[in-house]
Amino acid sequence: MTAVAVPLPSAARAGARLEVDLGTIAANVRIFVARVPALMAVVKADGFGHGAVDVARTALANGATWLGVTSIDEALALRSAGLVAPLLSWLNPVATDWATAIDRRVALALPTPEHAAAVRRAAAQVAKPALVHLHLDCGMAREGASADDWPRLCRSAAEAESAGLFRVEGLMGHLPCADQPGHPADAEGRRRFAWGVDVARASGLSPAVRHLAATAAALDDPLSHHTLCRVGAGLVGIDPTGRAGLQPALTLIAPVVAVRDVPAGTAVGYGHTWLAPRATRLATLPLGYADGLQRGASGRAAVTLRGRRVPIVGRISMDQIVVDAGDLPVSLGDEAVVWGAGGPSTAEWAGWCDTVEHEIVTGVGRRVARVVRRATGEPLVSAA
Ligand SMILES: *Cc1c(COP(=O)(O)O)cnc(C)c1O
Repeated sequence: MTAVAVPLPSAARAGARLEVDLGTIAANVRIFVARVPALMAVVKADGFGHGAVDVARTALANGATWLGVTSIDEALALRSAGLVAPLLSWLNPVATDWATAIDRRVALALPTPEHAAAVRRAAAQVAKPALVHLHLDCGMAREGASADDWPRLCRSAAEAESAGLFRVEGLMGHLPCADQPGHPADAEGRRRFAWGVDVARASGLSPAVRHLAATAAALDDPLSHHTLCRVGAGLVGIDPTGRAGLQPALTLIAPVVAVRDVPAGTAVGYGHTWLAPRATRLATLPLGYADGLQRGASGRAAVTLRGRRVPIVGRISMDQIVVDAGDLPVSLGDEAVVWGAGGPSTAEWAGWCDTVEHEIVTGVGRRVARVVRRATGEPLVSAA
């Protein structure tokens, strides 16, 4: 897809930068829209590091009908940016500013009867019904009501609905092992959710949406789809199945800020953990662990320079890395692709860091400049 770069101040253009391709995100969104009954775009953690407002707008422009985030603060930031779509926040302490959320029409996931009581009080204060989704634990022992609490949560929600203080829009759960298709814990989670729906209906609730699936289950477990799927990772190209055709949307680029030719035996970086085995050329890039290049990847990771894969040598520092460019004719001002188009993938970086791609894409530090490439044809949106 053709993309249009938004001009950056020249100082930002010269340093390390993270390019976000919204055209790619749009294509990923459309893949999900074609496969699920309805799509909630999960844009928590700043849209998985891609920019929450940009990802949200792109998702809505391409067929998503809901937005989802973790905290009320994240939800209010989307409202302040002018997004008026249905929006759910699902992880908040009991003592929180529910009133503002209710006032801004942020739907609230309720995991305990205590949350329900607090939200009910806030709804009475602002004299507006709270939009709520009852959240059932479907096998992670993490968030969501226990089976013991669920009937009581349903009854109190039904009662608040009769009193005009709740509008119970949804029921939700989350599966623990959806990236391992056929895992028995997910079958158990689906059964638990079906039970939860029955209990809610028997309590007099008739929620418009039921949602259980995230990215992996949206792709691989149609029995979990119900009426809505909550998808985050997949929108930014993280594909647990490896065959959905999703594409990554980030490219991390860094300029060469120092070049030196060194003799064999030259020690590099803190602790002298690497010695040049031969005469070689070293290049320094101004990115380190404060920018998301995890120190634990020292000795394993690589970048691409002038089209060739070159290893990061010595320890990854807070602000910089050194690569062994060998006989490449590298010069000051050349640019390395740390990951993304033309360089290593975020999946490779995840392997080098013993983690998942989610942690790589959400881990880029704030001092790295962001460059947003907008899909042509999309409505022009203001800079975040
Ligand atoms: C993060 C999250 C999602 C999105 O999960 P992905 O696997 O990234 O699609 C959905 N639901 C809940 C409750 C989440 O915390």
